[in-house]
Amino acid sequence: MQLTANFLLTHFTASETAERSTIDNSPPPDVLANLARLAAGLEEVQALLGAPINISSGYRCPGLNRAVGGSATSQHVLGMAADFTCEAFGTPIAIAAAIQASDIAFDQCILEFNRWVHISFSPNPRGRVLSIYDSREGYLEGLRGTDGNLIA
Ligand SMILES: [Zn+2]
Repeated sequence: MQLTANFLLTHFTASETAERSTIDNSPPPDVLANLARLAAGLEEVQALLGAPINISSGYRCPGLNRAVGGSATSQHVLGMAADFTCEAFGTPIAIAAAIQASDIAFDQCILEFNRWVHISFSPNPRGRVLSIYDSREGYLEGLRGTDGNLIA
């Protein structure tokens, strides 16, 4: 199913963990509506970056979310969030900085472990930017470099 010009539903539901564990990661209708909003938001992100993005995780049904150790309140379970990279554009920090400086109406943009960017789109976007480098340390307010300092 085509959600937007560049994104198919399978871009958001494909999961090696789900395949291995024979988890059916098909979204219910309310989640599908959220995924359509997410895909539209990612079209804006891709246009901003000017290069194809690679989605590593999108929708996670509750069973898959448990299997990957995701937070029970994860926006991935609602179909509102995706983790992605964009090698042709640059590092996850550069991607998050570009999104932070843009006028894209995201809900949360999180630099995760300096390896990918988590972005979510919701009906009432908060424009919240966070960073996480260490699970024990948890989420830090703002976009932080590897030295812990804020990136404007
Ligand atoms: Zn995520």
